[in-house]
Amino acid sequence: MSEHIYIHVPFCIKKCRYCDFYSKIDLALIPDYVAALVREIRLRSPSTVPQSRGSAATVYFGGGTPSVLGSRHLGTILHALDKSFGLSGQTEITLEANPGTLDDTHLKEFPEMGINRLSLGVQSFDPAQLCLLGRIHSADDAVRAVEKVRNAGIENISLDLIYGLPGQTGEHLIRELDCALDLSCTHLSCYMLTLEPGTALHAMYKRGKFFPMAQRDQVDLFRKVAGYFKSRGWDHYEISNFAKDRALRSLHNSAYWRMVPYHGFGPAAHSYIIKSGTHGKGVYERSWNEPDLDGYIQALASGHLPPSDGEALTLEQRQMEYIMVGLRTSTGLDIRAAQDLWENRFLTVFQNLMEQLKGKNFARYQDAGKRFVLTLDGWMHLDSIISAFVEKI
Ligand code: SF4
Repeated sequence: MSEHIYIHVPFCIKKCRYCDFYSKIDLALIPDYVAALVREIRLRSPSTVPQSRGSAATVYFGGGTPSVLGSRHLGTILHALDKSFGLSGQTEITLEANPGTLDDTHLKEFPEMGINRLSLGVQSFDPAQLCLLGRIHSADDAVRAVEKVRNAGIENISLDLIYGLPGQTGEHLIRELDCALDLSCTHLSCYMLTLEPGTALHAMYKRGKFFPMAQRDQVDLFRKVAGYFKSRGWDHYEISNFAKDRALRSLHNSAYWRMVPYHGFGPAAHSYIIKSGTHGKGVYERSWNEPDLDGYIQALASGHLPPSDGEALTLEQRQMEYIMVGLRTSTGLDIRAAQDLWENRFLTVFQNLMEQLKGKNFARYQDAGKRFVLTLDGWMHLDSIISAFVEKI
């Protein structure tokens, strides 16, 4: 079976103002973290030998800022993954990187180690926006980082951009997108800025020092982004994700959106696994390591699994997740799979709602009626559409 593996790297040089991901800025703990991570991978390794299972389909180093690890530590982690899960030239191995932390010497070693996709957290090409977001890099750093990655022989380059900052106009956003495409990246993740409780930006908002963009203006910008990529023939395959062509979609994230099981390692990492039975029919469990780097290192140093929690998913939870992730993607809901998940009651429960959404041009049927997919107008009302589905579950 092909596995999907997520590695959480909980280190950053500095905390960005908008970010609520679990990370620490004490890089001195990196060697202990790597040793603990390798132990966790071994302890949770599947019992069958990798050769008999084939190789992992994807590995995704997220964070945090995985690029702070450098090639030696990344090589150690990949070696452990290879021994426990099997890696091959076909495995999509993505590394998230901050443009301010890419070192040429390390970068040149990445392709040999199997890293074949870089996801660069550019966020903006505008110095004022980078400053407001609290990023450590400049726009020039971002441009140079893309050049360095390409010179190292990695062609599959994704950029993250954030839009919807106060005062941003459509013209400004188009200039940002032009800058990204001028760099010949193959994939873009464009996220609307959200205010997460506990972040510095949220504290500024509470003190009246930050004024978020009005929702109707955000919606206008979303339409601009979608139109921009449509006119260039890019594949808008998830509400915030765009690939130059279909073959360049993120295989790892696409697996999440199809609710394919995955293993997560590292503090704060989540896993989604089949406890018993087979895909589609089994007992599913979601589990997560506690966001506690010290506890993680201590537990694994003494040979134990790290502090964690988890839950077996009820049928209703799986149904809700199926709706929530499926409607975000351009492949939408697979009606036959949904009928299976609802024990043949999906159409009975939802057909009226689906027809109403189709009538408002919020959705359409695709592939000869086999799929139900939201339109661009539907994506603009995603939250209320999901709520309408969830009410009926
Ligand atoms: S956005 Fe990325 S670099 Fe910034 S604090 Fe969050 S994880 Fe770290």
